[in-house]
Amino acid sequence: MASEENFMRAPAPSPKRTIYTEAMEIFHRAADLIGLDKRVRLELEEPDYEHIFYVTAKLKDRLVPLAPEEAKAFSDLSVTQVRNPDGLERLADGKIILNGRALLGSDVNIRRGHLRLPDGGVYQLVPGESQRFKAYRVQHNQARGPYKGGIRYHREVSLDLFKALAAEMTWKTAISEVPFGGGKGGIQIDPRQYGREELENITLRFMYKLKSMIGPNIDIPAPDVGTNGDIMALMYRQYSDGERERHNMRGIVTGKDVRIGGSEGRVKATGQGVVYCIEDYYADRGETVKGKTFTMQGFGNVGSHGASILSTLGARLLAVNDADGTIYNGDGIDVQALMAYVSDPKNLKRTVAGFPGAQKIEKKDLWDIQADMLIPAALGGEITADIAERLKVKLIAEGANGPTTPEADRVLQKRGIDLIPDIIANAGGVTVSYYEWIQNKRMERWSEAEVDQRLEKAMKRNYRIIRDISRNQPRKTEMHDSRPYCIGKTVDPRCAAMILALKRIEAHYLLEGFSQ
Ligand code: NAD
Repeated sequence: MASEENFMRAPAPSPKRTIYTEAMEIFHRAADLIGLDKRVRLELEEPDYEHIFYVTAKLKDRLVPLAPEEAKAFSDLSVTQVRNPDGLERLADGKIILNGRALLGSDVNIRRGHLRLPDGGVYQLVPGESQRFKAYRVQHNQARGPYKGGIRYHREVSLDLFKALAAEMTWKTAISEVPFGGGKGGIQIDPRQYGREELENITLRFMYKLKSMIGPNIDIPAPDVGTNGDIMALMYRQYSDGERERHNMRGIVTGKDVRIGGSEGRVKATGQGVVYCIEDYYADRGETVKGKTFTMQGFGNVGSHGASILSTLGARLLAVNDADGTIYNGDGIDVQALMAYVSDPKNLKRTVAGFPGAQKIEKKDLWDIQADMLIPAALGGEITADIAERLKVKLIAEGANGPTTPEADRVLQKRGIDLIPDIIANAGGVTVSYYEWIQNKRMERWSEAEVDQRLEKAMKRNYRIIRDISRNQPRKTEMHDSRPYCIGKTVDPRCAAMILALKRIEAHYLLEGFSQ
């Protein structure tokens, strides 16, 4: 029997390898190299706050399709003519949500809880129940300004993952010189399995619970995987509902629709930022993007806009992999047609799979395609050491957060494959989020050209500083000054980016001191 002493005692912490410890490897390497102040290191090693909370919502009734075998038992069930087909909302998993009064006034033929729709399928009517979802917000560091970072709706999330992503935001906001710290959060949910109104209810409840922890000058969420401007609009409404000065609260979230205080150029900003870095990478070598080929993983916000801008500049997209398939066309994929295909409301999974302008290949074959660049723009940890050994590209521009594992990083260096690391490559999103936040504060509205111009300068200036740190080439030009950041020896680009972040963050602690 356990002694009373041991009762309810937490096991001693063991040094486990986790997503967070992996992500922090580069932090420790850069911190060692620059001799980061010990107390600053302790401040940055763990987040300021880690919130875990729960969100409940009442789901709607669903029609769940029967497999053809099971449906045989209902072969003589006559068709239910639905009077209000708009009330039926088809989901990517084949289920159908019954919205409002979908079946009201219809001639409903139900047998043992089953009905047949005009599409011929037999469906089981499953009553909606309440469900609980796990939610997170990690606030990593605010030395440079309010916490800032996206909201992810995805099945595979965890505190460990959000800690890593929140820390990434701390580095990224420092690198892009915006006056923010780092945060990240979201809900453990596959949003494609829920209807519009269900997602609205879940989001409102999420913000209801989040409200006490965030604010336009405290912590500012934005879209990430599985969320978008629609979700941001709901979050804004819920945060500001009934408040006397709600017009002053528009900056509570960024990534809003331009019609409700979003910034021009924000939707494409992350993809645009990736392309500004790529342009500068080639400009430095006396080359241009024109005629270059690329492959891509992920064709959501970052991937599709990045690909579209690159193709406008004359680069050719050869292959794309997403969550549901992989496509290839050696002559180049028509990116505009692919964007139209993916965003077609009939394409419930929003996938590239089945695109008529390309052939289907296996995901594993994506990594063997010869191209100038690979742009990962999906999830983290996808480029492993094995994959890095196989890649036949010359440059990886990380649109996604953390797509390359530390082992893969070492392989890429050994093989001489160049890298534009995530914390600069995909910083365009948070940079334009900052522009949105300023516009909200000042009640201004900037044109797309103005936003792009500022973004281009910011991305290229900071990317050039990182390149100079990497090459140990301290210099001051009209555009940038890398002298305070070079460390007297060359380092790989990921480490150089981290050095830039840490030196900028450290300055705050060293100059302002620590509040007691
Ligand atoms: P999104 O939800 O719009 O698109 C995600 C894409 O990844 C989809 O095409 C999806 O099919 C694909 N995907 C998901 N799981 C996959 C898997 N297992 N294998 C292959 N593909 C998979 O998300 P997004 O906003 O474009 O974000 C993509 C990445 O960029 C994420 O890592 C995100 O953190 C990062 N990022 C986004 C922004 C932004 O502004 N949206 C900013 C910085 C970084």
